[in-house]
Amino acid sequence: ATPTALMVGTGRSAKMGILIKNGEVLEAVNDVTTVVFDKTGTITMGKPEVTDVVGNHQQVLTVAASLESASEHPLAAAILVKATSDQLTVPAASDFKAIEGKGVQATVDGKQAFVGNDKLLIDYEIDASLKQQVQQLQDEAKTVVFVGFDHQVIGVIAIQDAPKPTSKEAIAALKSRGLKTVMLTGDNQRVARAIADQVGIDDVIADVLPGDKADHVKALQADGKVAFVGDGINDAPALTVADVGIAMGSGTDIAIESGGIVLVKNDLRDVDRALALSKKTFNRIK
Ligand code: ADP
Ligand code: MG
Repeated sequence: ATPTALMVGTGRSAKMGILIKNGEVLEAVNDVTTVVFDKTGTITMGKPEVTDVVGNHQQVLTVAASLESASEHPLAAAILVKATSDQLTVPAASDFKAIEGKGVQATVDGKQAFVGNDKLLIDYEIDASLKQQVQQLQDEAKTVVFVGFDHQVIGVIAIQDAPKPTSKEAIAALKSRGLKTVMLTGDNQRVARAIADQVGIDDVIADVLPGDKADHVKALQADGKVAFVGDGINDAPALTVADVGIAMGSGTDIAIESGGIVLVKNDLRDVDRALALSKKTFNRIK
């Protein structure tokens, strides 16, 4: 590869809002066979909104908002926005503890409380009708969190985070190149599959704990070179391990630092544009 050709390639891409850190990265893109995507903020807009509350609406939201006041998770923001728009008075929680990939727990009004996914429910019985409602919400591509208060599950909150308008087209372009597409997420299997179906992603690896994302990328590398596309703090190790790490420009600083390519416009179609550019650059200089 001649340095001049590479500079032309990467200079042109920068004008398109695709920052490529060096020529090696651009060359590696050429050999990618699988593209793995984070879900929230990468395939979806990363703007979750509360759509449904099951149980005593006011009580469920009040307890959840109290717990989430201390959380920085995007789901927490959605719950707080809803509590504010419903003008609820939210008591302060104490003894707050975030449980990675699962939810949060705290003391609310002197009682033990939690909000999070089914991994927090080991000691609780969920009745059949609630279970069915939860599954239906998940099949509608909504993330469901359970709200616990004083040793009882008092309800659930469904939260929707729609795909970006261009995600479907972006996935179709990659698939038409013969690439395999995979979604890697901490969210539930049903929700992940529902979103994957909306945008045309082949495979889903769900219920992944934040610390395990990089291991899943390594496993996929047994079948060929892997590009990983993500935006979050917990995506940084996967971005580093992947043959090509692609970070969203809207992502956290650590994700951007870990990526070899940064998509300034946060448009997933730029993954395919980076590929096209790589092919063009390396066909020319070989
Ligand atoms: P991802 O970023 O891939 O959605 P996370 O590991 O951040 O995955 O979260 C995985 C799951 O853990 C969420 O879908 C949710 O069910 C649960 N969870 C994590 N943090 C919270 C929180 N603050 N409130 C409620 N649920 C949470
Ligand atoms: Mg994300």
